[in-house]
Amino acid sequence: MEDTRVLHTLKEYFGYDSFRPLQKKIIDSVFAGKDNLVIMPTGGGKSICYQLPAILLPEITLVISPLIALMKDQVDGLTANGIPAAFLNSSQTESQQQEIFKKIDSKELKLLYVAPESLQFVDRFMTDGKISLIAVDEAHCISSWGHDFRPAYTQLGYLKNRFPTTPMIALTATADKATREDICRQLNIPTAKKHIASFDRKNLSLDVRAGIKRFEQITNFVKTRKKESGIIYCLSRKNTEEIAEKLQRKGFEAEAYHAGLPAEKRIEIQDNFINDHSKIICATIAFGMGIDKSNIRWVIHYNMPKNLEGYYQEIGRAGRDGLPSDTLLFHSYADVVQLQKFASNSGNEEVQLAKLDRMKQYSEALSCRRKILLSYFGELKQEDCGNCDICKNPPQFFNGTVIAQKALSCIFRLKENEPITLVIDVLRGSQNEAVFSKNYQQIKTFGIGKDISWHHWQQYIIQLINLGYVEIAFHRGNNLQLTSMAKNVLFEGEKVQLAEVPDRKKLKRREENI
Ligand code: ADP
Ligand code: ZN
Repeated sequence: MEDTRVLHTLKEYFGYDSFRPLQKKIIDSVFAGKDNLVIMPTGGGKSICYQLPAILLPEITLVISPLIALMKDQVDGLTANGIPAAFLNSSQTESQQQEIFKKIDSKELKLLYVAPESLQFVDRFMTDGKISLIAVDEAHCISSWGHDFRPAYTQLGYLKNRFPTTPMIALTATADKATREDICRQLNIPTAKKHIASFDRKNLSLDVRAGIKRFEQITNFVKTRKKESGIIYCLSRKNTEEIAEKLQRKGFEAEAYHAGLPAEKRIEIQDNFINDHSKIICATIAFGMGIDKSNIRWVIHYNMPKNLEGYYQEIGRAGRDGLPSDTLLFHSYADVVQLQKFASNSGNEEVQLAKLDRMKQYSEALSCRRKILLSYFGELKQEDCGNCDICKNPPQFFNGTVIAQKALSCIFRLKENEPITLVIDVLRGSQNEAVFSKNYQQIKTFGIGKDISWHHWQQYIIQLINLGYVEIAFHRGNNLQLTSMAKNVLFEGEKVQLAEVPDRKKLKRREENI
């Protein structure tokens, strides 16, 4: 296809003068009849990679998409731009479907969106050569390695056998290396050209904080951003409602959004947000897929997401216009425990737990977070980013051997039978019921850590966990246990470097300043 014709089409139908990085190369490869795998972050501009070829190719382009709720919007958008398109899914009546079959027969359509569940309709009347291109959107749904596995997607493997000469383009915003390989394998496109866009969204600041007094921290965060739109992601529906209500009481324009609300209500909330009538959405992850709002200025995770793909996709909804935007993640061990339970019940425990582990490592990192995040997507960076909390406030290390010895010996004296809260109570010599009921005031390490605040102990012990000296026995009351490495510190004088824990007051000032 000639370049001038392609550029002309870009301008005429989409209104753009030039391509974004990779788009042109991908489109050329599609015109060359190759199979392609496109990995591009949300907002990167994947749609044009198949919509533009669809306009110029002789026959129809089939788009497989799992987002039934969004098909109508997508098709309306295309039609408004003068691109004849339609969709087929199970929400339609038989006569509506007949109408579309007619249009296909008379070659009126350039694009046909189909839910994977409705593919059998296509099968009935299409043959190889009658389709110019097959696009598989949200292709990670085919892989149980991905974060959004959909069983209906696994049938898509037959498409390549059924339409062997039709080129295929698979697109996703979220795929680590294992998922990428799996997508190509399952779609039967082993020779697909892989186009991997940079996942580095430099305009998004990254901040991770301990989930202590979260609501207070959120209030401080939003009160300096009253004119800006943002999303607060929560794990449970109940949380979304509670936080929205608490924010409303404080005078913020906040609304809750989750899958349990009636459809009309959800659309209303979504529209209000898109049109800037409400500023804050407290939502479960049901919110955001396919929302085209370029000026979302911040995203907060009230709870930890279950993996880095989900996290990346959710923070990626901020700052699509390229302007500076802020993201804030709260992490807590309660969340980790909860997510571990979900993972154990997922039927895919090992993979889910490994992914959760990476998420945990990211939130507990003591080096540039963006580097860790990007390396997860296979992108290695030399330089620190300068736009994450660690880069802005690098931890200071000190000789924490004595602190480590105190904590480890306390855990030992408690026979590895108590959770972090009680270990800290004993270290600090707290006079409370939990301590007295077990006579812990009599053990040798009682009160040896009086001089260190509760918060500091908590942070030091978390570091000891991350350094591999202590483990949390998740299946046994979250008790702290020593690992084999701990004895090197206790008995062989191994030195432990700990990171300085910022003073709470200083931390608060910092939060107010950003
Ligand atoms: P994705 O599907 O990767 O999330 P979209 O295809 O929805 O991204 O594109 C994101 C936004 O970028 C859309 O508003 C789209 O119109 C815009 N966009 C895509 N390509 C270009 C381009 N070449 N120039 C300017 N804007 C573009
Ligand atoms: Zn950084």
